[in-house]
Amino acid sequence: MKKEKIQSLISTANLLSVISLISLILGIIGGYYVISKYDMMELGITMILFSLAQLIVYYFYQGIVELAEIVADLLSDKEKLDVKYNSKENIIKDKIWICKKCNTEVDEEFEICWNCMSSKDAI
Ligand SMILES: [Zn+2]
Repeated sequence: MKKEKIQSLISTANLLSVISLISLILGIIGGYYVISKYDMMELGITMILFSLAQLIVYYFYQGIVELAEIVADLLSDKEKLDVKYNSKENIIKDKIWICKKCNTEVDEEFEICWNCMSSKDAI
C-alpha cells in the first residue's frame, strides 16, 4: 500500500537523520580528542569539518520526512474525499429505478420510463 510505503520512508529517513546527528557528535568529539590528546591539529580540524557536513545530511533527511508527512496528509484527505464522494454517489443511485422493459435508469420522481413510456410497475 502507498500509505505503508510512506510510513516506512518516514521511519527510514528519521533513522538516517538520527545516525547523521550521532556521527556529527562523534566526529566533533573525535576531532577534539585527536587535537587535545595527540596534538594533531590538522587531523582534528578535518574531522570536525567533515562531521559538520553531517548537518547537511541531517537536514536532507528531515526534509524527506517533512515531505513524506505532507504526502501522507494529502493521501488521507483524498481518502476522506473518496469516501464522501462514494457515499454521495450511492445516495444518488438509491433515488432511481431501472425500467424492466428497456433497462433505462429513471429518476424516482417519475412513474413512467422516459425512454419507452412504460410504467414503474410494468413487466
Ligand atoms: Zn423503459
